[in-house]
Amino acid sequence: MEAAGVEKQAPKFYEEVTSKLGGETMTKCYQCGTCASSCPVAKITTRFNPRVVIKNAIAGNRGHIVVDEPIWLCCSCYNCQERCPQGVEIAEIIYALRNIALREGHSPKAFIDMALNLMTQGRVVPTSSFTMKRRETFGLPPLKETGVETLNKILSATSFKKAVEKAKEGVQ
Ligand code: SF4
Ligand code: SF4
Repeated sequence: MEAAGVEKQAPKFYEEVTSKLGGETMTKCYQCGTCASSCPVAKITTRFNPRVVIKNAIAGNRGHIVVDEPIWLCCSCYNCQERCPQGVEIAEIIYALRNIALREGHSPKAFIDMALNLMTQGRVVPTSSFTMKRRETFGLPPLKETGVETLNKILSATSFKKAVEKAKEGVQ
């Protein structure tokens, strides 16, 4: 039983990640590097390496992962996850780490802009009269309404909007 007046300790970063969807697979990583050699992003920049991301997550290097930008460089291609011999759900772990970072107010401006587009227009990439005309040129039908009101109810219920507002303050 907790002593009165003693604050409950914040969960350790490791536990925070492993409690998220796919995060529990992180413990199976034995640092073979197959993910890094399969990653198209790691091929073009030394700033991002999925093996190192997993290593830091296991080690509980919260500050490095949450505040620094590398986790936002993943393009969600799932190459790593397809090839990991241990069944580590690397892309899902990166989503979990991004969720933790966003809730703490850390996200690159480009991602916040996309989230704001989603909240206001129901689309990550905004449309313009130019793109609508181009669609006509290619014989494509007009885009359907996005149901942005319903979407916003979901985004509010999941605290997504709150997290984006917090992150937005951080980059201003
Ligand atoms: S491929 Fe899997 S086991 Fe190997 S380093 Fe990457 S996550 Fe760990
Ligand atoms: S999902 Fe992300 S980490 Fe995995 S290979 Fe693709 S870009 Fe790299």
